[in-house]
Amino acid sequence: MASQRSLRSRMQTAAALYYERLPYAVQQEHRDLFKGLDKNGDGRISKAEPLQAGYPKKSFFSFLDTDGDGLLDFEECKSLFFLMKNKAGVCEGCGMPLLESYYGCLECHAFDLCTTCYGARNKLEPGHPHSNFVQRKPMISTVMNELIDQVNHPQLLIL
Ligand SMILES: [Zn+2]
Ligand SMILES: [Zn+2]
Repeated sequence: MASQRSLRSRMQTAAALYYERLPYAVQQEHRDLFKGLDKNGDGRISKAEPLQAGYPKKSFFSFLDTDGDGLLDFEECKSLFFLMKNKAGVCEGCGMPLLESYYGCLECHAFDLCTTCYGARNKLEPGHPHSNFVQRKPMISTVMNELIDQVNHPQLLIL
């Protein structure tokens, strides 16, 4: 399994490529979305400004905030939009986006854990009442691989 850091940099590469390929009008929608999140209009989103519903945890903000300045600029938000558009879920344990194989609860369909948190599921706070999990692969991992492979093997673009 890739480390959290290299996984993040892969995701950022994919997010930048994804954005580049969007039609101009959709890029503009992303810019408008960013302006909507940037409540005080300073061109950056601070921790106090809430992100999209469903991505609430502090650790998720830190995941996006690659330079660690406590603010998200538009470049860093490309990752947020990439995750949103590809319906990436978030680990209920650590709050990180689920970018590779994860475990989903079979009983409630809305409780997913990353591999690390699944391994430590008995220590979760608060605990989870169900124990039937199934391993799933998120769609975003396929999207990331395709975007990055196209760059590493440009001849595939001809197909
Ligand atoms: Zn986790
Ligand atoms: Zn459950």
